Amino acid sequence: MLGTCQLFGANGALASRRRLQSGRQGLQIRQNCNPQGKCSILTPAVSEDLSQPVRLDAGDPAGGSQASKEGRFSFGKTLFGLDADTLAALMVEAGEPAWRGSQIAEAVYRQRITNLSEITTLPKPLRQRLAAEGWEVGRPTIAQVFQSADGTERYLVQGQSGEGLTVETVWMPEGDDGETGDGSDPEVVDGAARRWQRATLCISSQVGCAVNCQFCLTAKLGFQRNLSAGEIAGQVLAVLDRHGVEVGRDRVNLVFMGMGEPFLNYDNFMAAVRLLVREVGLSPQRMTVSTSGIVPGIERFAQEPAELRPKLAISLNAPNNAIRGEIMPINRKWPIEAVIDAVRKVQLRPRERITFEYVLLGGVTDRPEDAREVARLVRRSGLPAKVNLIAWNPGPGIGYSLPQPEAVEAFRQTLADGGIATYVRKPRGRDIYAACGQLKRTMEG
Ligand code: SAH
Ligand code: SF4
Repeated sequence: MLGTCQLFGANGALASRRRLQSGRQGLQIRQNCNPQGKCSILTPAVSEDLSQPVRLDAGDPAGGSQASKEGRFSFGKTLFGLDADTLAALMVEAGEPAWRGSQIAEAVYRQRITNLSEITTLPKPLRQRLAAEGWEVGRPTIAQVFQSADGTERYLVQGQSGEGLTVETVWMPEGDDGETGDGSDPEVVDGAARRWQRATLCISSQVGCAVNCQFCLTAKLGFQRNLSAGEIAGQVLAVLDRHGVEVGRDRVNLVFMGMGEPFLNYDNFMAAVRLLVREVGLSPQRMTVSTSGIVPGIERFAQEPAELRPKLAISLNAPNNAIRGEIMPINRKWPIEAVIDAVRKVQLRPRERITFEYVLLGGVTDRPEDAREVARLVRRSGLPAKVNLIAWNPGPGIGYSLPQPEAVEAFRQTLADGGIATYVRKPRGRDIYAACGQLKRTMEG
């Protein structure tokens, strides 16, 4: 009987998922810009007492959320988010052959069926029994859509925890020139009449973020909770469905650059990548994960097998530790050199490059001397690298200035003259708060 088995009984699914998605980073930093607890070159973006330690151990050992650990929410018995092996074990526990698990995986990940009763490869009595036991597909759903004049769409996606929090996902038809960064032309898709030739999907890994970068709107939410693997992968499938994307035919890039710090939710993030690669069929070479520089996370990432590892982007954002420490407090825990040393451990695939993201803050990080210093820093790292420049996207209550377009171009030119492949990321969806660093869970338009 499904309901009585030890592993997958009423609480068993959650227990199983917790084991699959467990992990803790256990990291702490102190934010002491100066004795007054104020950063000198910026308007504080947050009102919290900067002298207090900020916990970065957002990785919940239970894998679900702090909230679920406290018993306030439950993920229920959701099939979506379980990998084929776990689904097979679930079926065996139910007295069914293990291959029924593959049938469920095929249905929910490849055919993208969201309703248990529609998985017709399973015998009807089994579907009914699963439903009676409280099982459902439980894939995250799009709760609200914001459309930008430039075609970008921002979604509020309802997760699996049932607690009403939504996360943000962004669809950028034609990308933003940052995801491939190789300047390649868009691919033409045979026979398909579409408004886009390639698209980029920006995925969230946490609700809010603990890292507190001073220029980022998501930081203002603080850390709310980790997303489960199903909630991370579910964002992708919900949006692929909305746009009728056919995996294997259409060119879609995934960037894990939405809300949150993926490497502070490492296990769930990587479990989602494995689902997307193995079960959904997406290529990890079309995926890029961006980190603010969580060194233990980068070191774990370096151990991942190439066939499951996305490409890596590092949010450099400043020419030196002094400025980086001011705008990214995390730098005081892991300075630039420590991050670069960790990145060196990643075995790159042929022609693969590390991306350095660099947010241009008017008058703070966009000066000619900054550009020269960045060029030296990237060259000295010896890494095969490219730089993605991002003009700062403004947000309410964040006291920075936009860089002048001439400053952006001059910065790009200096890096290019220094022999560094440099791309300027197009701001997409600024009017709907969908651009980098503008993601903040909100119901306003
Ligand atoms: N937490 C991860 C990934 C999400 S942020 C990280 O920080 O890398 C994705 C990118 O957006 C990062 O490179 C970050 O530096 C950048 N970003 C954050 N806020 C921004 C803003 N207001 N304008 C432009 N880019 C921003
Ligand atoms: Fe978090 Fe990234 Fe925003 Fe920094 S830039 S606060 S790490 S989401």
